[in-house]
Amino acid sequence: MTNQQKNDFTSWYIDTIQKADLMDYTPVRGCIAFKPDGYEIWEHIQAEMDRRFKETGHRNAYFPMLIPESFFEKEKDHIEGFSPELPWVTEAAGEKLEERLALRPTSETMVGHLYSDWIKSYRDLPVLINQWANVFRWEKKTLPFIRTSEFLWQEGHTAHVDEEEARAETMQMLNIYKEVVEELLAIPVYDGQKTPSERFAGAVDTYSIEAMMKDGKAVQAGTSHYLGTKFAQAFDIKYLNKENKHEFVHTTSWGTSTRLIGSVIMVHGDEQGLVLPPRVAPTQVVLIPVGPWKKNPEIMERLDKIYAELKAKGIRVRLDDSDQSPGYKFNEWELKGVPVRVELGPRDLENNQAIIKARDEEEKISVDLPTIADCIEGALNTMQTRLLDKARAFREKHSHTHVDSLEQLTQHITDSTENGEIPGWILAGWCGDDACEKQVKEKTKFTTRNIPFNPPATKSTCINCGTEAKYTVWFSRAY
Ligand code: AMP
Repeated sequence: MTNQQKNDFTSWYIDTIQKADLMDYTPVRGCIAFKPDGYEIWEHIQAEMDRRFKETGHRNAYFPMLIPESFFEKEKDHIEGFSPELPWVTEAAGEKLEERLALRPTSETMVGHLYSDWIKSYRDLPVLINQWANVFRWEKKTLPFIRTSEFLWQEGHTAHVDEEEARAETMQMLNIYKEVVEELLAIPVYDGQKTPSERFAGAVDTYSIEAMMKDGKAVQAGTSHYLGTKFAQAFDIKYLNKENKHEFVHTTSWGTSTRLIGSVIMVHGDEQGLVLPPRVAPTQVVLIPVGPWKKNPEIMERLDKIYAELKAKGIRVRLDDSDQSPGYKFNEWELKGVPVRVELGPRDLENNQAIIKARDEEEKISVDLPTIADCIEGALNTMQTRLLDKARAFREKHSHTHVDSLEQLTQHITDSTENGEIPGWILAGWCGDDACEKQVKEKTKFTTRNIPFNPPATKSTCINCGTEAKYTVWFSRAY
């Protein structure tokens, strides 16, 4: 690695994703190519999310990428929030279009237009639809995976008879996000409510899951919105209730994106490069022959056998029989974050053993060849849990509850910088006034992440004005 994580986290990150061959830049600003290993991480995330969505009654559909300008104008908060980021199609087949078409930044408007036709009676409800798609937001500052101009995501769009049902859906989906991100990506998150200034454009309430990266900054890893009847009113989505009266539906939307790939890298990566949780790793195990293995065909035969045993268990395994030196291969596969490496040389074979090493641990262990497949499977499972535990411990260490005023926060940031520490997150009180939130941001670059449902402590005074706190909020720098 050319750049060290502890000296320059962003350069380390760029270095890591390039050396691990996950992506490439393209001539279009903020639009990246996902290379097979990067894309496969997404496929594993997709598969698990999709399974959970379907388990809870949702179905996939697809909506067009181009959205007429007039659709955006129907919901004033939505257009206000999104217009600075919209790319437009103005011409087609050499002719100027009568109406500009936006490349979708999200699909509430197109969905709203269609749902007004699809929904007529209470019998049509709820509508539980998800879409897997690409979206465009012309971001000013971009960072591969974390914030790109084009990204891949899923967006759920549901419609319900009343507020209670729609709010339950909003929470259900946030909970699915939390579970998938913790269980699959081994990233601990805080779930909670966004403050009004951080709300999705057009939402009544926005909820998020927030994760801490290794530089202490936060990533908003997923969001779930209760949209009330705002889009229903804008697009006239009404149904006839059991009393034969027209009512507006209550809608929700929820999304997670390829930002999750960036989060995995920033949470688990180390100075040797990528560290991937086994459940999302494109290659979970790599088998490497060592010593004078070319003179000893039994080594390859034994590795082939291990390969077949692991395959039979559904484990994603690679055998590296290239002519590079073992040292080169170790380094290469470590950079790529492969969770478990197996080494087999002549002496190991004599002892009927092999060496296995987990990517995130220092020590190598000898295992008996007859039971090796089970041992590897066990090692993968333990590593999955260990990564979540390590990330939790890291987050606890860098979450601070002792900061009660802006002066203390400024001091905390100065002290951390002087001690070569990261400032992390702080849990502080907030009176609910936008102006206080803004001042904290202007003076410290710390923004409100969310109002956690289960905060580790409760704060009684506002960090900025010192009056009574209405909320206990996570503040931090964020991506
Ligand atoms: P939103 O529709 O704004 O609630 O976004 C849904 C989710 O998409 C967010 O919670 C982010 O995790 C993700 N996201 C938003 N903007 C970007 C972006 N520019 N690049 C990658 N992911 C994004």
